[in-house]
Amino acid sequence: MNPLVERWVRQQIRALSVYHVPDPGNLIKLDAMENPYGWPQSLVQEWLQCLREVALNRYPDPEARAVKQRLHEVMAVPEGQDILLGNGSDELIQIIAMAVAAPDRVVLAPEPSFVMYRMISAFVGMRYVGVSLLAEDFRLDMAALKKAIAQHTPAVVFLAYPNNPTGNLWPRAQLEEIIALAPGIVVIDEAYAPFASRSFMGDLGRYDNLLVMRTVSKMGLAGLRLGLLCGPTDWLSEFNKIRLPYNINVLTQASAEFALGHRETFEAQAQRIREDRQSLYDRLNGLPGIKAFRSEANFILFRTPEGRADELFESLKRQGVLIKKLSGHALLDDCLRVTVGTPEENEQFLQALSKAL
Ligand SMILES: *Cc1c(COP(=O)(O)O)cnc(C)c1O
Repeated sequence: MNPLVERWVRQQIRALSVYHVPDPGNLIKLDAMENPYGWPQSLVQEWLQCLREVALNRYPDPEARAVKQRLHEVMAVPEGQDILLGNGSDELIQIIAMAVAAPDRVVLAPEPSFVMYRMISAFVGMRYVGVSLLAEDFRLDMAALKKAIAQHTPAVVFLAYPNNPTGNLWPRAQLEEIIALAPGIVVIDEAYAPFASRSFMGDLGRYDNLLVMRTVSKMGLAGLRLGLLCGPTDWLSEFNKIRLPYNINVLTQASAEFALGHRETFEAQAQRIREDRQSLYDRLNGLPGIKAFRSEANFILFRTPEGRADELFESLKRQGVLIKKLSGHALLDDCLRVTVGTPEENEQFLQALSKAL
């Protein structure tokens, strides 16, 4: 390696692996929690009409006011609570981390959870503390969490609700306890809110350290890259200083404003996905040696017979279906994750898995 690279790129960064996204080719794509449904032709036409009006030669509205207004409504952000927009919620995680980063400061999250919490902590030079979930059904280990909070005084606690990649919602009372105990910010990451039965959005304003993060990615607009952080203005106005100007481009702003005006389309799709999740869950659990875990998101985590996850993943791929191989945590041994697709895609996945078994 170029010795200059070694000298100057921090060890914490050199130790990372790049966030790998496989090329799906022609495979049925059930790996990334995308909504499998497009829009009716009439809606596509209307959208294209909107895009015609967009001035690409001009910078976007730096505050994206029209989009924020729509989001306030559609996401039911409580009156008096503010919104900060990010280029995906990934960017918001990064902004929060940058705002509080110092070498001795800690980001804490249960594990396994969304890998970006750990990666972004490294990007900004913070310490990351992962507190393992309980092996049985991925419940929170409250004793370990309380101990870790007392020991490390985390600047930020990230709680994915529902959790990725396990799909479960932890008991509300436990999260309230963590919010009350945490010395710093608690971010409830509700990326899967369209598929979940509970939310903390309505609790904003009840705590001085609670923020709720959402995204339009999983509801069906992953290509736009738009996430939102909701909460009290005194936090968000500080974070807003770090946000690069014009982080939400004109095409995203125009498209999101349009799409959010047609929420009934997305709500119907989410409803469909929730119903199909139930039958996918039932059928997975009907397969020999497979244990599927209950999910409140648009994916299902399942455990395969011991030592067979890699081989089953490869076999599915050869049969034309791409799902997600999980690694990096002992609790995920033998586990794979599948996104709920269209009924036809789910059927092909189940047939392929059945054959592979
Ligand atoms: C997918 C996901 C995100 C990232 O969302 P983007 O808005 O697409 O960046 C954030 N948090 C969790 C838990 C996720 O699963």
